[in-house]
Amino acid sequence: MQHNVIMGQRPLFQPKGGMGAITAPVNMVNEKVTKKLNEIIEMFETGNLPPAVARTIIAKDLPRPSNSWSIGNKMLMSLQGTEDARGFKQWQEVNRWVKKGAKAIYILAPKKRTITVTVLDSETGEKNKEKRQIITGFYQIPVFRYEDTDGEPLPARQEYKPPKLPPLQDVAKHFGVDVIYAPFDGRSYGFYSWTGGKKIVLHTHDIRTWFHELGHAVHNTFYTLRNGQVPEQEIVAELFAATMCELHGIHGFHQYSWDYIKSYTGNDPAAAVQTIFQILSDVEECILRVMAVADIPALKIS
Ligand SMILES: [Zn+2]
Repeated sequence: MQHNVIMGQRPLFQPKGGMGAITAPVNMVNEKVTKKLNEIIEMFETGNLPPAVARTIIAKDLPRPSNSWSIGNKMLMSLQGTEDARGFKQWQEVNRWVKKGAKAIYILAPKKRTITVTVLDSETGEKNKEKRQIITGFYQIPVFRYEDTDGEPLPARQEYKPPKLPPLQDVAKHFGVDVIYAPFDGRSYGFYSWTGGKKIVLHTHDIRTWFHELGHAVHNTFYTLRNGQVPEQEIVAELFAATMCELHGIHGFHQYSWDYIKSYTGNDPAAAVQTIFQILSDVEECILRVMAVADIPALKIS
């Protein structure tokens, strides 16, 4: 079924099964966006979707004992010019040994003691006994720099960023959104957050997730987002992502996009398409805002 999506008119709400009034598109660029959106919605409706690619996640960094150290000890370590310091035995465990004559560096571990104190409750005037841990001093723990050890090589440090950053980085920069790549936390592929500075956190290099979170960020430039997984917001971000994938010649995520959108309408395809039409003008606005900042070759008018 061909839907006629018209740009430049708002609100663009089309009731179930309705085609809406047809007027001339605002310009040719919009016409191209409209065409792409139509193609994607048609793909969703017909279920005629390209084969899906496998999804990926960013693996956790190598375990290093210093990962769990205090900030002070991490600073002591980096002042000694190393990113990895371990105890004598800890090096042995990874089949490395400390070179002859190497000097230890010392980190500090608190000496703790539990004491019982009497606390006066200011409201009731009662005296209560409470157990508290106090620090009575510090142990010095000798550790050795990676540079002062020899033996089997450690696996290479994990670089979280993809070797080549995905397109539309300038869009995030333009709207003041930080982009952070971090290991998978077992919860989400990524998220956009706007409290305490706008940021996109990605736990995958999958381009669809990048476009999805960017969709939230661009949507947020003209729409007040609500916290949590709000269906309308999610469908805007996902349709934006599907369109961006299509415009960049990436077709392996459409099935996921469609499944994701349907999951917010009780897996009812008809309801999903209807909801798409309700939020379509927001997606169009997102795309126009992106185009105002970045070049999308597929949308160039030849
Ligand atoms: Zn989302």
